[in-house]
Amino acid sequence: YPWKDSALRDPGVRLVMESTLSARDRVGVQDFLLLENYTSEAAFIENLRRRYKENLIYTYIGSVLVSVNPYKELEIYSKQHMERYRGVNFYEISPHIFALADNSYRAVRTERRDQCILISGESGAGKTEASKKILQYYTTMCPTRHNTHYIRERLLQSNPVLEAFGNAKTLRNDNSSRFGKYMDVQFDYKGAPIGGHIINYLLEKSRVVHQNHGERSFHIFYQLLESGDNSLLTRLGLQKTNPQHYHYLVKVCVCVNLKVYFSFVCFCERTFELLKVVASVLHLGNMQFGVDEFEETHVTTDTQLKYLAELLGVAGSALSEALTHKKLHILFVGEKTMISPLNLDQVLSARDALAKAIYGRTFTWLVQKINQSLAFQCSSVIGLLDIYGFEVFQQNSFEQFCINYCNEKLQQLFIELTLKSEQEEYEAEGIGWETVEYFNNKIICDLVEEKFRGIIAILDEECLRPGDASDITFLEKLEDTLGGHAHFVTHKLANGKTRKAVGREEFRLLHYAGEVNYNVTGFLDKNNDLLYRNLKEVMCQSGNQIVKQCFHPDELIDQRRPETAATQFKLSLAGLMDILILKEPSYMRCIKPNNGKQPGQFEEVLIRHQVKYLGLMENLRVRRAGFAYRRSFEAFLQRYKPLCPDTWPNWRGQLLDGVSTLVKHLNYKPEEYRLGRTKIFIRFPKTLFLTEDALEIRK
Ligand code: ADP
Ligand code: MG
Repeated sequence: YPWKDSALRDPGVRLVMESTLSARDRVGVQDFLLLENYTSEAAFIENLRRRYKENLIYTYIGSVLVSVNPYKELEIYSKQHMERYRGVNFYEISPHIFALADNSYRAVRTERRDQCILISGESGAGKTEASKKILQYYTTMCPTRHNTHYIRERLLQSNPVLEAFGNAKTLRNDNSSRFGKYMDVQFDYKGAPIGGHIINYLLEKSRVVHQNHGERSFHIFYQLLESGDNSLLTRLGLQKTNPQHYHYLVKVCVCVNLKVYFSFVCFCERTFELLKVVASVLHLGNMQFGVDEFEETHVTTDTQLKYLAELLGVAGSALSEALTHKKLHILFVGEKTMISPLNLDQVLSARDALAKAIYGRTFTWLVQKINQSLAFQCSSVIGLLDIYGFEVFQQNSFEQFCINYCNEKLQQLFIELTLKSEQEEYEAEGIGWETVEYFNNKIICDLVEEKFRGIIAILDEECLRPGDASDITFLEKLEDTLGGHAHFVTHKLANGKTRKAVGREEFRLLHYAGEVNYNVTGFLDKNNDLLYRNLKEVMCQSGNQIVKQCFHPDELIDQRRPETAATQFKLSLAGLMDILILKEPSYMRCIKPNNGKQPGQFEEVLIRHQVKYLGLMENLRVRRAGFAYRRSFEAFLQRYKPLCPDTWPNWRGQLLDGVSTLVKHLNYKPEEYRLGRTKIFIRFPKTLFLTEDALEIRK
């Protein structure tokens, strides 16, 4: 058994069959399907705990990989480890992210079928690190075409660049991705990685103008201030001082030490233009305004305005006018424009809206630039999805609503694809399909996204309605339309009484993963995501090449309302589903063991929540409904042939007959197993364990 040798040589990579009696006690089972008591959450968590204690952070549920963030460097990601996983069967070696990566790669190579790896989990659980490890595996282990070796570098470098602009320190994660990311790694017909394509989802751009206590804005601002040399900073009108000098960065607490990645030079020849945009956002934050005796608001920080005008390549007067006034188009007989002054609050929010728009659009521009630099003709792809997991906080707002909706969609896809593939495998093997009961969350997806009656449709309608529309009228509309829906609840009970668990400004959704209360405050504003027209006009005339590309004059001509934030998100998710449904999926579920970012701490309550939100028990139940274990005849025979004199040392006949002879000798009862066309299916883990133990004793 070649895999046994490697296991002996390296205790880090343990023997596949950790299911042997002695090992089982210590390190649990490597596949939850082998749990005796597979419906018990306590047993599930105990298995995770045992493994975590032994630094075995990976465990399977069939082909789903579950990981627990170790919060320390483990010696399991070296090139030797990568080599160990190359071409090895999933179950023959200790569970690992490289096994998942290799498995998808082999499917691409041998079946030419596009793959995707979907990684989910809450913030700080290890999704981004996992996706980087997968990318490293491909760039290290796959063959290269000599004229495209620089593509590897670019693929790898796209990460730090995007992280600089899209990641920030939060309470949950020092390097938290504030956007969802789908990346296609593209391969040529020889299996060499030759390109990539990235799609970004819902950047949390509000972070540019506001951060919660103890959190920071996007890394790039600090990197620029900390590592930009004096002459560069002078040209940008910035000072190498404490970041607190900048209003938008004020709430800094702890600095994480970050290297500067000005390596994006290779992505865009316009590095300086890009830094000008970054600096302009800081200057915007430092703009101050005063109110004169006519109650008109005006800019009081002329130096900032001057810098801004220069960095953005616009006329200072036009910018200051646009920041303090609102231009309305009124369609009477013919077209009329009215200019009305804004009060101080309105000016501040217009300024913030501009900062968010500039930053958000520049981020998307950057992604496009990266894509251009990675574009090649490819033959097949492996998609990596690193996207926010289910979120439940004390207060949940529009952002959590979008994120959790995204998770419902992914769950829906998961149900469709896994159950379908289960069914297909049973059919292919000629084994009757046994119906599995499961909760189909389509009803919740519909509740959110349905035309006219869905929550997003109702929200959009309120956003469009002139007059007294507010967050509260939105909530009332929801009640009117959706009251009585099995998954929607407000504080009002049918008998006229009040439900205490839901606040008056909240609605509650019963998600597949659990209940979440959403506070409607800010829903309308966030959904509108409004940028006044005159600010757009000024930006369209920008002399900064990046800003110019981000604000297109067509936007001004287009009389249609721009899509709302929720609708845009809904459409982009629909697009993502279209991409994913054509691919063969693998899943990784990441778990965060504690909130303190500490190694070795396994906090049970926290983990139990995640096991629930990730739907792991349900997943296990569905997979176990039929057979706990399946293995190709060849692999089965290879492993257990020493247990039967007829199959030892070699079986010369048909594989099916060999397996048949072997299991008869082992006294398997008919209800314990089935023989398919190429695989044996074993119903209970116990059968397998007894066989494993027999093997152990024989030694
Ligand atoms: P997420 O993307 O899920 O929010 P990250 O992937 O950014 O989380 O991980 C958060 C932090 O946890 C990382 O910065 C790193 O310190 C630690 N971490 C995550 N995965 C691993 C791992 N496999 N080995 C060691 N540390 C890890
Ligand atoms: Mg992340």
